[in-house]
Amino acid sequence: MIGCRCAVCHSEDPRDRRLRPSVHVRFGGNESNRGVLIDTAPDFRYQALRFGFERVDAILFTHSHADHVMGLDDVRPFNYRQGGVIPVYGSEETIGAIRRTFRYIFDEKDSESSRPRLVTHVFDGAPIDLFGLDFTPVRLKHGRGTVYGFRFGDAAYLTDHSDIPEESMAMLQGLDVLFLDALRHKPHPTHSTVARSLETVEKLAPRRAFFTHICHDLGHACTEERLPPHVRLAYDGLEIEVGVRQA
Ligand SMILES: [Zn+2]
Ligand SMILES: [Zn+2]
Ligand SMILES: [Zn+2]
Repeated sequence: MIGCRCAVCHSEDPRDRRLRPSVHVRFGGNESNRGVLIDTAPDFRYQALRFGFERVDAILFTHSHADHVMGLDDVRPFNYRQGGVIPVYGSEETIGAIRRTFRYIFDEKDSESSRPRLVTHVFDGAPIDLFGLDFTPVRLKHGRGTVYGFRFGDAAYLTDHSDIPEESMAMLQGLDVLFLDALRHKPHPTHSTVARSLETVEKLAPRRAFFTHICHDLGHACTEERLPPHVRLAYDGLEIEVGVRQA
């Protein structure tokens, strides 16, 4: 937290130095290596440099809050490197907000400045086939708003949410890895808490779970000490291999 003097914001543990939430999903073989980004956080440029992203072949958006979209302009180098346009997927509401927020990107007029080359797609809940891997949108409640998580193979990424509707719970059975929002211990109107997310883990029984979207109330080491061994806190740069059932 900018300007904060608390122990977590001043921690020496690199896992306590948290940038904004996003994941980069890599799949395919050596010949057909693909990278799909879920959200373009304001820190996207630094994340891509620091963790050496080689490809962004598609972008999925969970929702249009600033902490999940504001890095979109910095995908330009992937247009140059890969050639071609990058497809961007979101709900109708999210794509509308992206097109308004980044109006210059979608302006048809010629420009002297370089802009990302993107094509937007609205998803309706059906699985999205990206280069042979299905990403299924999972509807979640984020306070009064609706956001989407994504299930891909045996993994699911559910950031910002306060509630998971029953029909979405049914889509989250048999997971190897579940990532989910656990902001802090104190209740929050739009986010899940550690206790609530532990309940979700118990109900869904994934093999492993990682909490994300963590605020500075939660120190990494001292919070993990009190979690069951199959539930860990995610941290910047964490890489996980996931069992994927081929479509
Ligand atoms: Zn702090
Ligand atoms: Zn949000
Ligand atoms: Zn957020």
